[in-house]
Amino acid sequence: MITPQRLSLARLPTPLQPLDRLSETLGGPRIWVKRDDLTESIGSGNKIRKLEFVMAEALQIGASVVITSGGVQSNHCRTTALIAAKLGISCHLILRGKPPTSIDGNLLLDELLGATISYASAAEFTDLDGLYAKTEQSYQAQGLRTYSIPIGASNPLGMWGYINAAEELKTDFVKHSFEPDYILSAIGSGGTLAGLIVGQQLCQLPGKVAGFNVANDKSFFHDKITSDIANWGQVFENELPPPAIHIMEGYVGPGYGIAGPEVFDCIRQVAKLEGLVLDPVYTGKAFHGMLESIGKGLLDNSSNIVFLHTGGIFGLFPHRDSFTRPDSPQA
Ligand SMILES: *Cc1c(COP(=O)(O)O)cnc(C)c1O
Repeated sequence: MITPQRLSLARLPTPLQPLDRLSETLGGPRIWVKRDDLTESIGSGNKIRKLEFVMAEALQIGASVVITSGGVQSNHCRTTALIAAKLGISCHLILRGKPPTSIDGNLLLDELLGATISYASAAEFTDLDGLYAKTEQSYQAQGLRTYSIPIGASNPLGMWGYINAAEELKTDFVKHSFEPDYILSAIGSGGTLAGLIVGQQLCQLPGKVAGFNVANDKSFFHDKITSDIANWGQVFENELPPPAIHIMEGYVGPGYGIAGPEVFDCIRQVAKLEGLVLDPVYTGKAFHGMLESIGKGLLDNSSNIVFLHTGGIFGLFPHRDSFTRPDSPQA
């Protein structure tokens, strides 16, 4: 098997912590959280694990500009902007949507970190390959070498971030003397789950790896993750048996990046009970999905469940108006 180069960017290993008050409140399984929201400060979350490999390749080819894309509040774009700044290279972000009137959350950080930002409408974004090509050409015309990163850094190289995280989890389970029934994560572009699934096969990680999609649907991600894993096998010359892909759907809510009141309630409850803050785009939806699935008995009488906290804290603030304030005095 070919193994890729890696930069050391994330603070690893991240802690694995039990949420005992929550577990007690539920009267159910012991819930653990893998704190990938602590992989860095401004670079926190799951994307930095992927970017350790992807940005190593950008440096290796001598790129002076990295180009990537996502939503206006993309955690992946913010993390890429941070790492580019740390490495002294330029970053161009193609963001889906209109330039917002207030610069908030991840977008504020993108700007502080010096990223060049272009906006594309949802219609323009359907030809994302074309947008990348146009952006690449504009830099190449100035004699600059570019390196393009797909949404979420979810390509075969980026998958290595969570292949390695699977190994890290294996060590965590030995240290804490348990084997989980489930390892659960949010699914946004699929690369995290795809990496975990491959990593599980490579290191014999115990537990069922499963995810909650926060966009699209189960069949979309089943196909996407199947092809991601097949591509990975080709690029890195390692044929794996066809993996089982477990996706639990039903928690997208009104749409990607739009959450219903149950998600905001869940974020508030977990924050107050455990001092653990989730985000409304990814981890809040997945955590809510986990609690509902436990309540409905869908997680097979588990004893230990591990929830992967993939980060997203800065995306919380632009949603400030969706938090009702039950404790505030009535006017
Ligand atoms: C990107 C992201 C995810 C989803 O990860 P994918 O690898 O894209 O599926 C989950 N949580 C947060 C906070 C993210 O930023």
